[in-house]
Amino acid sequence: MSDYPIPATRIVQHGAAAAPRVIEADIVVVGAGISGISAALEAAGLGHRVVLVDAGQQLGGQSTGTLLGTFCGFYSNGPDPYRVVYGMVDAMFAHLKREGAFHLRRGRNSFIPLYQEQVLVRWIEQAVHAAGIEALLGATLLDVRRDGGRIASLSLATRFGPIELRGQGFVDASGDAALSYLAGFDCREPVSPIMGTLMFTIEGFDEAAALQLDRWAVQKRLGEVGGQYGLVRRDGFVFAFPGKGQATVNMTHVETPLDAGGYARAQAEGRAQADRVVSFLRGEYPAAFANARVRQYGFLGIRQTRWIVGGHSLHIDEVRQGLKPADAILRCSWPVELHDRPEDVHWEEFGDDHLHYVPLRAMVPRGAENLVAAGRCIDGDPAALSSVRVMGPCVAMGAAAAQALDIAGAGSVQQIDMAALQARLKDNLERRDRD
Ligand SMILES: Cc1cc2nc3c(=O)[nH]c(=O)nc-3n(C[C@H](O)[C@H](O)[C@H](O)COP(=O)(O)OP(=O)(O)OC[C@H]3O[C@@H](n4cnc5c(N)ncnc54)[C@H](O)[C@@H]3O)c2cc1C
Repeated sequence: MSDYPIPATRIVQHGAAAAPRVIEADIVVVGAGISGISAALEAAGLGHRVVLVDAGQQLGGQSTGTLLGTFCGFYSNGPDPYRVVYGMVDAMFAHLKREGAFHLRRGRNSFIPLYQEQVLVRWIEQAVHAAGIEALLGATLLDVRRDGGRIASLSLATRFGPIELRGQGFVDASGDAALSYLAGFDCREPVSPIMGTLMFTIEGFDEAAALQLDRWAVQKRLGEVGGQYGLVRRDGFVFAFPGKGQATVNMTHVETPLDAGGYARAQAEGRAQADRVVSFLRGEYPAAFANARVRQYGFLGIRQTRWIVGGHSLHIDEVRQGLKPADAILRCSWPVELHDRPEDVHWEEFGDDHLHYVPLRAMVPRGAENLVAAGRCIDGDPAALSSVRVMGPCVAMGAAAAQALDIAGAGSVQQIDMAALQARLKDNLERRDRD
């Protein structure tokens, strides 16, 4: 007979009227993607009690779960690009560089650094905890209590029980405008879908041979024989992180509906497309990919589903002309990257000195007083949004949302001192460091 001590147990019972756990915060951020992380860190840096909520199981949203592989929209265009986004980016890039998980690569007339998601997610976790932010994972926003234009509290469902979350200022960084929509503010949806992508990584390929492949020749081949492999999308690319034996593939297109069953089916469809892409690479480019296999499938990547109606809707002509509004809060040079057709992507690239801007009005839901949206759910037409929803501008929007709510305090974010806000965001509007 063993004398190993068996741990003790106790009997518990769920009370029928169990009250939700109540949490009080100054700033509540819904969505822990890159824009929510930026908003939370910025608000914590201002001394606020911050609660960061996400339905997913880890921090970082698409920046860590979707296997994006590259940082877009962090640099200007031209032969000698400068960085256009600062704040948390300084520490994030420094950490990734120290860990050998950052590779500055030229592309699309700018720099598009490669990064490794596993290193990024650890930096995010450490930065969030070091800043004293309370992160709630697996916590889904279910309901919003609103008093006129002010959000008063949120109801969250978590696997461990319900939470009531009260705050003074709120950031909707949910990507799908979940907070603004549930609060009853007007939102937009595209009439025809903007396609998402199931990203994945491969291993077992010959890196040197893969580097020899001409990207445009691969695209041409996709157009010619993609149908034989059952491929929906006939463009896209494979990019290898040098020396890691791993490459990221962006070659699928799937609709991303706003319902849980549709999401599950779309994710399975994206993974099936990914398998067919591997067959195409093996079959058409055996010297590089004969032994390639999927290393990891990402979570289905969602580009544009539902977004707020703000005080201003960013228009594609403002983007093309690089018009700087009086309430500009960030600059960016990323092209129009519109995924509005299954078969390909519409790109519109900009010249060397081009910059376009996001106004604060595009981030504040019409009628809201203590709510600011950040990230891919701000207001714009689908083409304009496609040029400002990559991660660089998302980080800058998060910072702007936190600063705007800090200035508004108990007042309305509709009536803040713009000069004071822009002075705080000067780096993201003016600084020009070369990395
Ligand atoms: C396939 C694909 C490839 C891309 N490639 C690149 C790239 O290479 N480089 C680049 O810079 N950008 C890329 N982008 C764009 C970029 O990934 C996103 O636009 C950006 O990451 C959006 O960040 P976000 O914080 O706004 O949203 P997300 O990262 O989507 O985060 C939103 C978070 O909100 C949470 N959430 C949503 N609803 C609720 C709710 N009701 N309750 C609680 N939590 C909720 C979600 O779980 C999620 O974590 C790509 C996008 C896609 C789809």
